[in-house]
Amino acid sequence: MTGDRRVLPSRRASGAVEDRDVVLIGAGVMSATLGVLLSELEPDWRITAVERLAEAGLESSSAWNNAGTGHAGLCEFNYTPRRPDGSVDASSAVRIGEQFLTSLRFWAHLVEQDLIGPPQAFLRPVPHLGFGRGADGVGYLRARFEALRGHPLFADLEFSDDPAVLASWSPLVFGDRPGSEPVAATRAAQGTDVNFGVLTRQLVSALRARGADVRLGTEVTSLRRRGDQWHVRTLDRATGARRELRTPYLFVGAGGGTLPLLQKARVPEVRRYGVFPISGQFLRTSRPELVGAHRAKAYGHAMPGAPAISVPHLDHRTVDGKQYLLFGPFAAFSPRFLVSGRWSDLLRSVRPANLPVLLASLRDNRSLVGYLVGQVAQTSGARLAALRAFVPGARAEDWELITAGQRVQLLKRTDGRGTMVGFGTEILVSAGGSLAALLGASPGASTAAATMIDVLAASFPDRMAGWAPRLRSIAPPVEGMSEGDLASAVDGARAALGLPPVVRAVDLGEPR
Ligand SMILES: Cc1cc2nc3c(=O)[nH]c(=O)nc-3n(C[C@H](O)[C@H](O)[C@H](O)COP(=O)(O)OP(=O)(O)OC[C@H]3O[C@@H](n4cnc5c(N)ncnc54)[C@H](O)[C@@H]3O)c2cc1C
Repeated sequence: MTGDRRVLPSRRASGAVEDRDVVLIGAGVMSATLGVLLSELEPDWRITAVERLAEAGLESSSAWNNAGTGHAGLCEFNYTPRRPDGSVDASSAVRIGEQFLTSLRFWAHLVEQDLIGPPQAFLRPVPHLGFGRGADGVGYLRARFEALRGHPLFADLEFSDDPAVLASWSPLVFGDRPGSEPVAATRAAQGTDVNFGVLTRQLVSALRARGADVRLGTEVTSLRRRGDQWHVRTLDRATGARRELRTPYLFVGAGGGTLPLLQKARVPEVRRYGVFPISGQFLRTSRPELVGAHRAKAYGHAMPGAPAISVPHLDHRTVDGKQYLLFGPFAAFSPRFLVSGRWSDLLRSVRPANLPVLLASLRDNRSLVGYLVGQVAQTSGARLAALRAFVPGARAEDWELITAGQRVQLLKRTDGRGTMVGFGTEILVSAGGSLAALLGASPGASTAAATMIDVLAASFPDRMAGWAPRLRSIAPPVEGMSEGDLASAVDGARAALGLPPVVRAVDLGEPR
């Protein structure tokens, strides 16, 4: 909890303080999802969302600032670690698959209620491939396939090391592969490509339709806790007008802007937290002969010592009606916390209380630091070599390097060590549940519905029982469902969203 501070006269908000039941800071996919959930659960609550940019979903949630993968555990190896005995632990893949199904069911509910749509504007079927190379990589992929294949969330997963089958899955990756290196792939035709920017704007429209007040081009400049209320000062970036909102519940979904706001508000839990920004870069092409030869998202193995977010992948994307391939990510350094942030962001976040954590994180994560330094120093030739592991005949002139979003990694002390928090998301709840914030960026937009239900549970524990029946119809819980129910839930959500049905393994025939 923070103490009162005097307001400088020049910074004084004009007009009366405006009372709200909920204030959401930021209009990315997370705030927009939470706002829609709350507007469904409590239609009478006065909700205001405040976004500093002129449009919603332009930062991390923008189509060009993320890879658009509907993460469901179908192809990402970081969710299926190998056990010492060589078998594969599928539990994280099942969890992320369940979280994505929760998102699908939430979006399906909104489409059925005519609150968002059309779903084809933000959701497309794009098969997900897992790509194994070398004897070890192929062995791992086979073990991964065995671990997942019996589960209803992975019911259409296929495995092949047959060059003809692989070439039919992606002519670009497997069609003309020189050399004798063993390769194999898994394929899940149920995979998706999601334009989270469009989705965010659809959610914000739904929020407005429900009577919420969405203030674009308006920056939150400070937060203060007084009694049992939060006072939120805002600045209209076009007119310079300053206003003040007062609310008993605040959600800080400001992406990279979250930690600086919490620091300004002197939220005690973040005193010793630091953050470190990493930007993602991708190679991109729109050449029709390349784009047409890879209608899939293919995920490979991370390099030794590299973090899970660095897993190389070649993605088919559709953005604004045009088709592209994206390959990456490559890490780069920028001290900004938002794509539209300031060069001084990193420096301004350093305080006496968090400096030891920053230094300890550098000391205790040497392999990661080494990886980042190597990435920053990487030449265009090295990037092309990485691409050629996927696209053997890739030519430099067909691909351009683009900078995607900023990931602001959370640094904190765990067990006496400085830790980069697993490149994961941390839900922070403060001041008796009156403030919730999201720190970190992964597993990302795909899990927005499940993550925001967790935020509701952490913020409003006393209301959850009363909300449960309504929540069950908005975003029905998935955990603990029987296999048959899970399969029907997948089918129902996909049908409502206009996605093709899952063709299950039993219909694909054996052997695969
Ligand atoms: C390179 C990369 C690839 C990714 N790939 C994927 C993927 O394939 N699949 C996936 O599911 N996820 C992916 N992610 C993660 C995903 O993009 C994020 O988890 C998600 O978009 C975060 O949404 P958000 O709403 O928290 O943040 P944002 O979308 O960044 O929204 C925060 C909003 O807050 C606003 N804001 C900030 N400060 C203030 C302030 N003071 N006042 C008012 N407004 C403010 C910002 O302008 C912004 O609009 C990827 C991320 C990166 C960086």
